[in-house]
Amino acid sequence: MTDELIDDFGRRVRYVRISVTDRCDFRCVYCMSEEMTFLPRAQVLTLEELAMVARAFTEMGVEKIRLTGGEPLVRRDIDRLVADIGALPGLSDFAMTTNGASLPKFASLLRAGGLERLNISLDSLDAERFRLLTRTGDLHKVIEGIHAARDAGFERIKLNAVILKGRNDDEVLDLVGFARDEGLDISFIEEMPLGDVSDHSRAETFCSSDEVQAHIETRHTLIPTTESTLGPSRYFMMPDSDSRVGFISPHSHNFCDTCNRVRVTVEGRLLLCLGNEHSVDLRAVLRRHPGDIEALKQAIVRAMPLKPERHHFTTDGDVQVVRFMNMTGG
Ligand code: SAM
Ligand code: SF4
Repeated sequence: MTDELIDDFGRRVRYVRISVTDRCDFRCVYCMSEEMTFLPRAQVLTLEELAMVARAFTEMGVEKIRLTGGEPLVRRDIDRLVADIGALPGLSDFAMTTNGASLPKFASLLRAGGLERLNISLDSLDAERFRLLTRTGDLHKVIEGIHAARDAGFERIKLNAVILKGRNDDEVLDLVGFARDEGLDISFIEEMPLGDVSDHSRAETFCSSDEVQAHIETRHTLIPTTESTLGPSRYFMMPDSDSRVGFISPHSHNFCDTCNRVRVTVEGRLLLCLGNEHSVDLRAVLRRHPGDIEALKQAIVRAMPLKPERHHFTTDGDVQVVRFMNMTGG
């Protein structure tokens, strides 16, 4: 058996997103319901198990790892895990997606541990509205977190904004202005039908990347870049700024052909596609063969043929995958 991670459609896996916790200090309306039940600790991978998963993947050609959640910075000793993964040879891109609220405390430790890139979620610049969208979040803390990350030496920090019609679609230009003023990149994300959220009807709030782009182009010229993440994102430059603007349209099928990524859920399920349930239980392997990285690698290689050709999200508000985003990692 080879150690190359190639699926039945010839796609080579080079990118893994690992969810390190399902917990979060926010309750964003598109991600969680107000009352959430979180997993018992025993069902969540330990830090040692998470580090071993990361090592196994890098030893099989994965070059890019992103830690996500839930909110990765609420996981205890997250800085220790970051340092363990940051030291792995073969990793050329090590990133984290965070809500930013704990960055004032953690930014320097993460950078020192080898984390290279940060995506910080920010959906509104209005403190009141930010609180409504996140249900618990404090905008000022997040802005402080963005500054702390910059001071710690993180470059090309990227904001992620989920745009919902009638909730924050009127802030698109302000968010772009903020990114330009602060020297940040920004990506706009279409809401995905993950988990059954109680707060709003997804069919009514769905705002397409095309609409957001058209809105931005009323004020800024967007020049397409050739940059490709082999994922659902497209990036644009502006002639008068270093900031880049991206659009993440998970509903588009276009990227499935080149998809090079897999996910590991907080329970250690290897998900071969965000929009499908195909998965392999890596936690069972880790606990049946403690410390045996070869057993883990074999389980991962054997999972490759399960990667489906494409996902089938729609925008009509149907929930096709009844997992919450905090379980799978965004
Ligand atoms: N807590 C971190 C954060 O918010 O950045 C990391 C986890 S969060 C699940 C990752 C990303 O997924 C965030 O940018 C969030 O806005 C986005 N997200 C969550 N639920 C989503 C949904 N239903 N559709 C689209 N994006 C979603
Ligand atoms: Fe928490 Fe991130 Fe989900 Fe918001 S999007 S509730 S910050 S995990």
